[in-house]
Amino acid sequence: MRSKIVAGNWKMNKTLTETNALLAELAGKLPDTDAEVMVAPTFVNLAAAVQDVNSSTIQVIAQNMHFAENGAYTGEISADMLLDIGVDTVIIGHSERRAYFGETDEILAKKVITALEKNLRVVFCFGEELEDRKSDNHFNLVASQLKNGLFNLKPEAWSKIVLAYEPVWAIGTGETASPEQAQEMHAFIRKTIANEYTTEIAEAVSILYGGSVKPANAKEIFSKVDVDGGLIGGAALKADDFIAIIEAI
Ligand code: 13P
Repeated sequence: MRSKIVAGNWKMNKTLTETNALLAELAGKLPDTDAEVMVAPTFVNLAAAVQDVNSSTIQVIAQNMHFAENGAYTGEISADMLLDIGVDTVIIGHSERRAYFGETDEILAKKVITALEKNLRVVFCFGEELEDRKSDNHFNLVASQLKNGLFNLKPEAWSKIVLAYEPVWAIGTGETASPEQAQEMHAFIRKTIANEYTTEIAEAVSILYGGSVKPANAKEIFSKVDVDGGLIGGAALKADDFIAIIEAI
């Protein structure tokens, strides 16, 4: 059985005070669930967040990391720094990192390798832009993102990978992929992995959907057989919305 996961990507939101308050509210209201619940605060508040969630089952994860072990990379964060404060999962390849910070497939592949060498778990994000979908290139694009980012990995490395399909046109736009569009792409992703590796690996990997997931649409999206949860942006910033999404899984 693959894990069900609801992860909140807080992006560049929430001060330390707000982080403490939101985590206290989430911990207090967290429903009983089989799903893994993750939140990704900004770097500067990660250590405090780890303390905040201490006795709850909420996992604190990072939004990004550098591929180098350490060194002269001003402003960057290493895998060891995350591990040392008790963070063992990292998001890699978010479309905002790709679009605004020039992170190419090649850079992302290096980050994934470093993360796995350090025994971090990786939530690997990818997804097409609107033009790709309009020109019917979305399957090709997603296949190439998977190939370039992940298909150099050894089969055993896949137990530490979670995938997050996030069509760029659905992020923060209020426009959601329909449950059928999400299912169609998730099934394609699984088939692509099965072709490259094995059916067992493809069936074991959790594939999250991200892009304008809200309390009102979460249940229908999560009901699809190949959708194992969600990576939530805006709706993860309000405790009641995030809790409602967790309840939907
Ligand atoms: P929204 O839920 O705000 O569309 O963001 C999705 C996302 O980018 C999560 O990583």
